[in-house]
Amino acid sequence: MSIETRALNDLAAMRRAGAAAAATLSHVGNLLRPGMSTAAIDALVREDTRRRGGHPSQLGFQGFPAAVCTSRNDVVCHGIPSAHEWLEEGDILNVDVTTCLHGFHGDTSRTFFIGRPGPDARHVVETAERCLIAGIQAIRPGSQLGDIGWAIQRTAMAAGCSVVRDYCGHGIGRRMHQSPDVPHTGRPGTGLVLRPGMAFTVEPMVNLGGAQTRVGRDGWRVVTADGSLSAQFEHTVIVTPDGFEILTPAPGQEGATGPGAFPSFGRENDPHIP
Ligand code: MG
Repeated sequence: MSIETRALNDLAAMRRAGAAAAATLSHVGNLLRPGMSTAAIDALVREDTRRRGGHPSQLGFQGFPAAVCTSRNDVVCHGIPSAHEWLEEGDILNVDVTTCLHGFHGDTSRTFFIGRPGPDARHVVETAERCLIAGIQAIRPGSQLGDIGWAIQRTAMAAGCSVVRDYCGHGIGRRMHQSPDVPHTGRPGTGLVLRPGMAFTVEPMVNLGGAQTRVGRDGWRVVTADGSLSAQFEHTVIVTPDGFEILTPAPGQEGATGPGAFPSFGRENDPHIP
């Protein structure tokens, strides 16, 4: 398995692709409302991605029929937007945007509250976001993929939630999915050793119930086996000489380099609908 590292000129291009994906995600997140169809989200993502000079990476990827994944409530990931699926008050919805800009990909997702969340929805969504932060904070040269997985797993376990094992983060660059796989569980001090220039996603999927999943009848949509709520957050990151850089910061949250620095990365500037 060969793992690419990124040269400086590639890094600038990866930053631009990541910023475009993050801007589209933020734009769409601000427009989510009860009564909206998930197909309308797909239309917004196509339009906004193209307006920024990019192309939705997911469209046609391995036959995926839409420009974005919309995964609601017990859907873990890979939900296909539909004109027959409407957002309802109290739902949670993950929107996963990947933009290809000038040959490089940026991949980011958030789980949004639709209207006012119930306590279970709030718990699983906040836990998933804490898991993403914990996983990213484990990134620095010399640390290992198992350290990232463990940081995520222990954060979820402490909150009484489980981490999906069937789907991973992934290397990213000129291709949307490349080596290495980035598991969201693991043992500290195991797995690939991180080196500066490695770019990959961290995208933990956290379930309120058990970790088991199954694939729906459309062949794409992944749901929790026990019907419990599932939430996910994702950033594209790159290993830097002294830690990490988030390549998909939400607009206004740029400059999150690590370890330990998340300026206003949290509840205050959250795009969740109040
Ligand atoms: Mg991804």
